[in-house]
Amino acid sequence: MRVAVVWFRNSMRIHDNPVLSWAYESENVEAILPIYIFAEETNQGGNQTIGKHRLRFQFDCVEDLHKNLKSELDLDLHIFSGDCVAVLESISEQLQPCEVILLTEYSTSPLDTEQNEIIENNIITTHQNWSAKSIPCSQTILDVEAIVGSPKYKPPKSMKDMVRIFTREFGDFENIVFQTNELNPPLSSRKKGLTVNSQYQTSLDKIRPFFTSPGYFRGGESEAIVRLENKVISQHDYVNSFNKPKSISTNVKGNPFEPTTTGLSPYISTGCLSIRRLWNSCSEIQQSSEHTVPPVSLHGQILFREMFYLLSRSTANWDQDIGNSQCKEIEWGELNRVQLDAWESGQTGFPFIDAMMRQLNATGWMHHLGRHAVSCFLTRGQLWQNWTHGRDVFERKLVDSDWAVNNGNWLWLAGVAPFSMPYYRIYNPCPDAKSSLNVETKDAEFIRHWVPELAEFPSKYIFEPNLAPLHIQESAGCLIGKDYPSPIIDRKESRKKNLQSFKLSLENLR
Ligand SMILES: Cc1cc2nc3c(=O)[nH]c(=O)nc-3n(C[C@H](O)[C@H](O)[C@H](O)COP(=O)(O)OP(=O)(O)OC[C@H]3O[C@@H](n4cnc5c(N)ncnc54)[C@H](O)[C@@H]3O)c2cc1C
Repeated sequence: MRVAVVWFRNSMRIHDNPVLSWAYESENVEAILPIYIFAEETNQGGNQTIGKHRLRFQFDCVEDLHKNLKSELDLDLHIFSGDCVAVLESISEQLQPCEVILLTEYSTSPLDTEQNEIIENNIITTHQNWSAKSIPCSQTILDVEAIVGSPKYKPPKSMKDMVRIFTREFGDFENIVFQTNELNPPLSSRKKGLTVNSQYQTSLDKIRPFFTSPGYFRGGESEAIVRLENKVISQHDYVNSFNKPKSISTNVKGNPFEPTTTGLSPYISTGCLSIRRLWNSCSEIQQSSEHTVPPVSLHGQILFREMFYLLSRSTANWDQDIGNSQCKEIEWGELNRVQLDAWESGQTGFPFIDAMMRQLNATGWMHHLGRHAVSCFLTRGQLWQNWTHGRDVFERKLVDSDWAVNNGNWLWLAGVAPFSMPYYRIYNPCPDAKSSLNVETKDAEFIRHWVPELAEFPSKYIFEPNLAPLHIQESAGCLIGKDYPSPIIDRKESRKKNLQSFKLSLENLR
């Protein structure tokens, strides 16, 4: 008998899942064993590499996948906790009489590629009945390996380059619609499921008690489909007029948790939502009327994502600030733990920065322009800290944490990459109504919610409360320096100094 072990890592869904489709369509696969492996010991605070909201989201994804595999395909998701080689070894004996193919999604992340290598060396080469296959286009639209390996490939630097790549691959850009991999009957009833036992097996009931409070974003394919319907499919005007740089960073009026953009990133990064399905949903809507185009449109956002996946594969040391062809080696300052902690915990004394970081800490999400503001502040704007410090915080805490995309965006914002915004365009961390950070300043609801110390402050001073006269601070019940921190840095002086340092660093590189 030939068994396909389908290892879910970054495609936590049944719809449009090329790995599952491969298993179902492959003539000589008779049985399917779906597995999920929690890598590390977890507790209420998360673990070493994954913060509590990200982990909670991941748990929701596994729970939902477990339910959907059972109800739609009559398959039991086997859930393990521990080292992947030990887990696979523990089930290999029970699969001894079978020919086993281990299927995973293609990935560019070092964690996944390292795991693949270890498995190749420790399982595949030592068990004659095992083989492994990684299936392309699960996380991305493009076949990353094929594009990067083609003689025509040049690392993309801009949206124009990406439109060119898409046109070359798929034809007339305006009319691109993708075929998706759906498991409709009779395909879905063709294979049988399999059951194995292992000492590494764990259950959802064992892990669930770690997660007592629900996150704002609930993980899972089912939630992803509902959000896609509510924020995209039923919102034709919204999709047609989508203009990312104009979106409000301080969330929806009346709901300080809900993004003005789609809020689909956690579902896309965990693979609960197929990126092709999002693309097609937008294409269908756009076909009937005038619409925005890349880089500002929703298709544009997807292209940015594809661009970072290509670059993450074709750039050695993509996540390093040294030996990375997409990163100018700027002479950043020594690690300043005090400032970094203040930034991470939302205690900088700059309410907009603090509100954004506190939202990240409380939910695992932040609007794109909020990410612009806090990353600029940490690096070339105010604190002159190496971008990789901020990248690490985001990687651990974001519910949409994605190695290719996170590094790409930090490179962009730090001003060090060929595709970066100009380094001298620095955001004011105390934005006003005219700021390109698109902040709601009249009622300043977002700040009042996330920085409750300032809840009674007049809007006029709330973005720079240290400038408020003492009697105003007193009547708002918040003394700056006592109830809320004074600014940890002089924003104007640091801006000036950092601009000079950046310029000097660039000159030294020539
Ligand atoms: C410093 C920094 C770090 C970031 N780290 C991540 C990360 O780890 N994971 C992540 O998914 N996004 C990251 N982003 C990109 C972006 O902020 C989020 O994808 C976006 O805010 C998610 O919100 P949304 O789903 O409402 O986006 P929408 O505007 O609704 O866009 C739809 C989808 O397009 C993709 N997308 C949008 N913007 C970008 C972008 N700039 N780059 C790549 N893909 C994009 C996402 O999958 C998103 O869900 C980062 C941005 C910055 C500035």
